Amino acid sequence: MTKRIFKYICLVALAVFLACMLLIMGVLYEYFTGEAKAQLRAQTDLAAQGVARNGIGFFDGLDTTDYRITLVGADGNVIYDSAADAEEMKNHADREEIAAARETGSGESSRYSETLTRRSFYCAKLLPDGSVLRLSCTQSSVIALMLGMLQPILVIALIAALLSLFFASKLSKRIVQPLNELNLDEPLKNDCYDELTPLLRRIESQHRQILLQLELLRQKQDEFEAVTGSMNEGLLLLNDKGTVLSINAAAARILDADRGCVGQDALTLNRSVAMQELLEKVLGGEQAQAQLELSSGIYELDASPVMSDGRLRGAALLLFDVTDKADAEQMRREFTANVSHELKTPLHSISGCAELLLNGMVKPEDVKQFDLQIYSEAQRMIRLVDDILRLSRLDEGAIDMQRSCCDLFELSRSTLDALQSEAQAAGISLSLEGGSAVINGIPQLLDSIIFNLCDNAIKYNKPGGSVCIRVEDFPDHAVLTVSDTGIGIPAEHQTRVFERFYRVDKSHSKEIGGTGLGLSIVKHAARLHKAKIELESTPGHGSSFRISFSK
Ligand code: ADP
Repeated sequence: MTKRIFKYICLVALAVFLACMLLIMGVLYEYFTGEAKAQLRAQTDLAAQGVARNGIGFFDGLDTTDYRITLVGADGNVIYDSAADAEEMKNHADREEIAAARETGSGESSRYSETLTRRSFYCAKLLPDGSVLRLSCTQSSVIALMLGMLQPILVIALIAALLSLFFASKLSKRIVQPLNELNLDEPLKNDCYDELTPLLRRIESQHRQILLQLELLRQKQDEFEAVTGSMNEGLLLLNDKGTVLSINAAAARILDADRGCVGQDALTLNRSVAMQELLEKVLGGEQAQAQLELSSGIYELDASPVMSDGRLRGAALLLFDVTDKADAEQMRREFTANVSHELKTPLHSISGCAELLLNGMVKPEDVKQFDLQIYSEAQRMIRLVDDILRLSRLDEGAIDMQRSCCDLFELSRSTLDALQSEAQAAGISLSLEGGSAVINGIPQLLDSIIFNLCDNAIKYNKPGGSVCIRVEDFPDHAVLTVSDTGIGIPAEHQTRVFERFYRVDKSHSKEIGGTGLGLSIVKHAARLHKAKIELESTPGHGSSFRISFSK
């Protein structure tokens, strides 16, 4: 900019200088020409009077350095010429000034020399005898004048150029410097020339507008982050190239990424085939779904393209945790398969016995044994179906069961009473320790917990062994412990015995009428009471199930 200002100032100065030179020279040249003509006219008049009085003798001894004098006869032939031989000169009747003088009494003309460097002025006057007296003087032309003055003009031009260079540089600096030093953060605080004030005001208002819009944008961003940050679902926003624009806390946690992944390709977060196919589809403008199996669980990925003006601008990816759903689905499948399997065995047994009885293939003395077999298998099925029904009620949250104040000690006592004969038959002694502990619970479920634990403690005990129920009351919780001196549970099975149909020794469990659902019922019932189960067991020495109910 400085250079341009500088250049234009120099050009303007040069143009002004040249124009002034031309104007001054033109005016002066015209002025001096007028003066020369007036003088020529006066001299012609004087000379005409002299010639009229003295005839040609007037020219004798006359100094004709400044003027050329020509006397042309009435026939146009030159009679006298102060600069040339009159006899050798052509007829002058057709010369413009001579012809005019003959006609009107006086005539004037001017002519340039061949080189245009000189200009001659002619003034002619008609004398009484019909001859014409002509005086002429010569003057340098404008071009010659300028050529003659070239040197001083060049010197002046040089001085003018230097001066204009100096002032142009100073001026351009004075114009540009305040612009360079402008404080654009606080435009109105600048002390600058007045012409800049409207611009500075405009900058100030735009500055304020930008700050306002930035603030609004920041607020919107904060709101967006607050909303997406508190979401349980993962949210990923991508641009049309698949680059991550935004990732919320849940998505970062699920994909084990940090906020530094913003700006990177989405594939760097997960390179599975499912993810690749999903991205390909969504960046092609289609909705897409996929399931990702990550170390943290199973996630459903729902991707939608973001379109604007018919063009793909990016994509939004939502990640839902479907681990529980998938687990539940898996459990349901396994449960159905297990139930069918568990029911098939007694049914086959019943049907086989019944078929033999029907065909009369059983000896009369064996009929009772077959009847017993059918009865026990049917009982097993009834127990199994009862347990399945109980479990399904627990799965639904036992909504039809009422809560009330229950004394764990009293419930334990009645359960032990009910199991007394079974224990006696197995040679197991039962005992109850501790005291009353009242909690708010569902009596049927608490009863199931105590019954299943005690039943197992008797079933998986050794002859002459013992089972002890201990009820303890604390200010904020109550503890029920069922311990036995039975066969115990190996460490590797301890976490799995609470799974449905899981048995440490399948054949032994079936032999003693186990359904494989007892501890699952205990786990579910305890969960509904928000109770914590702890199992301690040493194979060959016994087990202890400790359930802690918060009040
Ligand atoms: P079941 O009907 O087979 O007893 P449970 O769910 O009640 O089914 O128990 C699962 C398995 O845990 C049993 O098959 C058994 O192997 C083991 N178990 C449960 N309680 C005890 C215990 N008190 N002592 C030893 N093993 C036990």
